[in-house]
Amino acid sequence: MTDQHCPGFESNKTLKEVRVKCPECGKEWEVFSDEITKISKCSACGAAVDPKTCTIK
Ligand SMILES: [Zn+2]
Repeated sequence: MTDQHCPGFESNKTLKEVRVKCPECGKEWEVFSDEITKISKCSACGAAVDPKTCTIK
């Protein structure tokens, strides 16, 4: 009984916020790391932003 891995639980544990910056207007906001693969919409200008490519540290 060593295989007690639950991938969903593991990704929950490592969930964190990632800062994203809109390349169009410069607005910054945060997405959760499990949403980084989804296109995010800038609330200021409405641009579709890919969090993976617009992350700031
Ligand atoms: Zn924007």
